[in-house]
Amino acid sequence: MENLFNKRKELLNEFNKSMEELNIRTRDRKAIPKEIPDNLVLKCPNCQRFILRDEFIMEHQVCPYCRWHGRLKSKERIQQIMDAGYKELFRDLNYEYPDFPGYKEKLDSAKTTTEEEESVMCVSGKINGIKVLVAVMDSHFMMGSMGVVCGEKITLLAEMAEKKKLPLIIFACSGGARMQEGILSLFQMAKTAQAIGKLREKGLYICVLTDPTTGGVSASFASLADITLAEPKALIGFAGKRVIEKTIKEVLPKEFQSAEFLLDKGYIDRIVERKELKDVLTKLLKLHNYK
Ligand SMILES: [Zn+2]
Repeated sequence: MENLFNKRKELLNEFNKSMEELNIRTRDRKAIPKEIPDNLVLKCPNCQRFILRDEFIMEHQVCPYCRWHGRLKSKERIQQIMDAGYKELFRDLNYEYPDFPGYKEKLDSAKTTTEEEESVMCVSGKINGIKVLVAVMDSHFMMGSMGVVCGEKITLLAEMAEKKKLPLIIFACSGGARMQEGILSLFQMAKTAQAIGKLREKGLYICVLTDPTTGGVSASFASLADITLAEPKALIGFAGKRVIEKTIKEVLPKEFQSAEFLLDKGYIDRIVERKELKDVLTKLLKLHNYK
């Protein structure tokens, strides 16, 4: 087994070396020889180096060179974090979406591309044998925006956690409130915050901030956790950097709104690499006497 692993590592090293040479010769993706199928390699958007797709997947979609963390689909995240046998909750909430020009088309397209019904997926299951309730937001579904259904699912899950005395873990990832639902989407901020507040009187709520967590989600349940974790270099904030700079007429620090900046300011408790998340969550749950 070890031999196989070493051999694969050698092959990967050889491949990476040749890719590096390509990187040196040109920064153009088109320079990849035609005989390498396009779906075998991808280019890291952060360090611009070529990565074997297989290796990227094996690394939980993290760049092996610069540790850039790619954005996961909700199902991918669940599969990385949860033990087998989890159960999805509230998938088919009955709701008549508001009529807004082009909204239905956008929703339909998001449903088709992600094979999900909404921007958040809720599940009950176990993490290393410990019972938990987990919600995962998905940036691939209308930028993880929070409308009525998303807010309702988060609220129902928090209420269930309180009732069943289970810990709640939310993976936040969102562009903010869903503008197509207007004021109804903003109501979700207060509703989710209230449900989380009630849960926290008795239970445990851990939030993992992932790239990006912004707008109405960062200003509601994503900022209210007992323990706040974040993935490296995640963008976390309320309004965009440029908007703030124009408003206050000042230049903001380069690292502004990054997980590292916010850790330094005390907003985040710990930055955790994706491959360590399951272990860290398990330790935190055990520390709070969940078995
Ligand atoms: Zn990279």
